[in-house]
Amino acid sequence: MSEILVLVEQVEGEVKKVTLELLTLARSLGTPSAVWAGPGLTAEAKARLAEYGADKIYVAASSDIVDYVVAPKAELLAQLVAATSPAAVLVAATSEGKEVAGRLAVKTDSGVITDAVGLGEGFVADQSIFGGGINVQSKVSKGTPIVAVRPNSTAPEAAPAAGAEEEVSVTLSDAAKAARIVERVKQEKGARPELTEAAIVVSGGRGVGSADNFSIIEGLADSLGAAVGASRAATDAGWYPHQFQVGQTGKTVSPQLYIAAGISGAIQHRAGMQTAKTIVAINKDPEAPIFELADYGVVGDLHQVVPQLTEEINKR
Ligand code: FAD
Repeated sequence: MSEILVLVEQVEGEVKKVTLELLTLARSLGTPSAVWAGPGLTAEAKARLAEYGADKIYVAASSDIVDYVVAPKAELLAQLVAATSPAAVLVAATSEGKEVAGRLAVKTDSGVITDAVGLGEGFVADQSIFGGGINVQSKVSKGTPIVAVRPNSTAPEAAPAAGAEEEVSVTLSDAAKAARIVERVKQEKGARPELTEAAIVVSGGRGVGSADNFSIIEGLADSLGAAVGASRAATDAGWYPHQFQVGQTGKTVSPQLYIAAGISGAIQHRAGMQTAKTIVAINKDPEAPIFELADYGVVGDLHQVVPQLTEEINKR
């Protein structure tokens, strides 16, 4: 079976769920090899990658890879593509992953597909385009297919493989060292799941009314083990931090369940959430555009509906 390179996303040595999803997807199309970019591959991380099907783990342990912004990862992958001629390269469709994908496509003179929500035979991708307004099937017609796949597009399934470690030394060009990282600020890791990886997201919009009222959105999220999101109206008002904004200029989420409370459903918000598998809208205006998109809708005041829902879920 042909080799498929999967760029590992990790935080402090912990492999992110999206990587397990990519390995699972790669297994359906070939033999996955994980690419660990930078130092810090732990025994646990190695075991996790092998558990989810990495036949090989390429390790480029040079700290240069993580000391400079994004470009070294594209250079590492380009060197691996030249050396191994893989059938495809998969990365997560995160902001970093998409930048790596674009840079890699230029370096390898290949085509790139971003925001794929599925990938099938012949590397034909289901892709969400124009801010999520249209779904198409796309295929790279030149070079090595490079596909950035959205988190939550595939359910991760374990299937143990060898996980044979192979060291890779990378020679970085001056261009790859153009922007050095000078400081890393650690964000508090809350008890809630990471927004882009969460299976359930509960988001609040202008209808929430204030920063204090966001506690009812958090209450519902916590009853479901969900992440909290917000519309731009809510983040711009300072009611919730910008890092939780969902939409065109925020994060893209593709959870199993997305609950939008007090959100009208503007195109820029939809761009970040409309590939969610099930969408529930709570809005007091029956004409709100979000209802065109929703699988289930509740017309009502969120200040009454959300606490009732939370109470009911907590009873179960
Ligand atoms: P509104 O549109 O004001 O809707 C509030 C909704 O709450 C209404 O439907 C109302 O009926 C309902 N409501 C009010 N009170 C209650 C209540 N008590 N109970 C139930 N329902 C209630 N937006 C994003 O979200 N993400 C983005 O990334 C983003 N990027 C943008 C980029 C650009 C270039 C531009 C121009 C805009 C962008 N926007 C983005 C803004 C977007 O156009 C909308 O303005 C924004 O999404 C509106 O947020 P909202 O739905 O919370 O507010």
